[in-house]
Amino acid sequence: MKIKRFIECLIPVTACNLKCSYCYVIQRDNRTLKIPPLDYPIEQIGRALSKKRFGGTCYFSICGAGETLIPKYMPDLIHEILSQGHFVNITTNGTLNDRFDQIVAFEPELLKRLNFSFSFHYLELIRLNLLDDFFDNIKKIKKAGCSFVLQINLCDEYLPYWDEIKRISKERVGAYPQVAATRKEINLKNNIELLTDLTKEEYVAKGKEFNSPLFDFTMKNFNVKRKEFCYAGDWSFVLNLQTGMLSKCYGCGIAKNIFENPDKKIKFEAIGKNCQSRFCMNSSHFMSLGIIPSIETPSYGELRNRKSANWYQSDEIKEAFYSKLKESNMEYPPLKKAYVTVKYRVSFFVINVLRKVKYSFKKILKKV
Ligand code: SF4
Ligand code: SF4
Repeated sequence: MKIKRFIECLIPVTACNLKCSYCYVIQRDNRTLKIPPLDYPIEQIGRALSKKRFGGTCYFSICGAGETLIPKYMPDLIHEILSQGHFVNITTNGTLNDRFDQIVAFEPELLKRLNFSFSFHYLELIRLNLLDDFFDNIKKIKKAGCSFVLQINLCDEYLPYWDEIKRISKERVGAYPQVAATRKEINLKNNIELLTDLTKEEYVAKGKEFNSPLFDFTMKNFNVKRKEFCYAGDWSFVLNLQTGMLSKCYGCGIAKNIFENPDKKIKFEAIGKNCQSRFCMNSSHFMSLGIIPSIETPSYGELRNRKSANWYQSDEIKEAFYSKLKESNMEYPPLKKAYVTVKYRVSFFVINVLRKVKYSFKKILKKV
């Protein structure tokens, strides 16, 4: 089964049971312990995300602003999306034992399409005595037939433990973690920066010790502005799972609620040569799945799976994660490419002007 569309999903919950110094939510001072409920019933969300509406089997990658599995509704929500026939990835700190117990009780057919990205927050796991729980949960989901990747954020505080982390990972999951680069989220200048006191060369050398294709790919695309034709808005989306707001990609300025009326058709149209981000922030997802077909990249699976350690459990996950979106979608002819690029540019301009007018009008009203 190949992937028709990729949907990057956010759960806007900032609560978490760990407190990592490099956490993006903590860096931005955004952490609250509030867990707002979903705006729509789970059954309605399921209908809104049906295969029929999205044109085929999709891949939903779900990540919380804080810990993804903290909300009590998460197992039911994951079950619903899997039941619609899609693939699901959950990024998690791997410590909430009850949630994993609930998830491994799902039907085995569903678990074959479920992947976990376990973030290895080593020092917090040691501080809270959760290291065994973390690896036991990986063992538990693996035994149940789910796939996984172990990944670690490269940051300075881990460097004294770098060899220890390698050894433990090898012993517990058969291979080194894939490495994720850690961004600075405060005091940003023009470019997004890495959160480290090392030089870029030293940082890259440390990451390379783990022989991680994920790290190599992320660093290669870090701060590289994308100007090619991108199929975000047709082959991929960004979705807020609480509110149902769907947009073509980050910062694209136009979002629509797709949960309110699950029967309403979704318009699929690429953003074209109009990427609004300073660089493809989640290139290891979007670009590896082939959202810009003119750029050759390793596949999503090649960046993550440690084949020697058998992290991918099912043939379904292997087939989907080693495929490219262009295998199940048609590329546009040149004229359509030019048309959608201009069309988006004009709509974006008009929307921005209207927003500015609205803002100025509100300011004037406040004064009178
Ligand atoms: S586990 Fe994730 S969300 Fe929680 S504090 Fe660490 S980085 Fe932040
Ligand atoms: S290139 Fe830009 S528009 Fe395309 S997926 Fe990446 S961030 Fe989104």
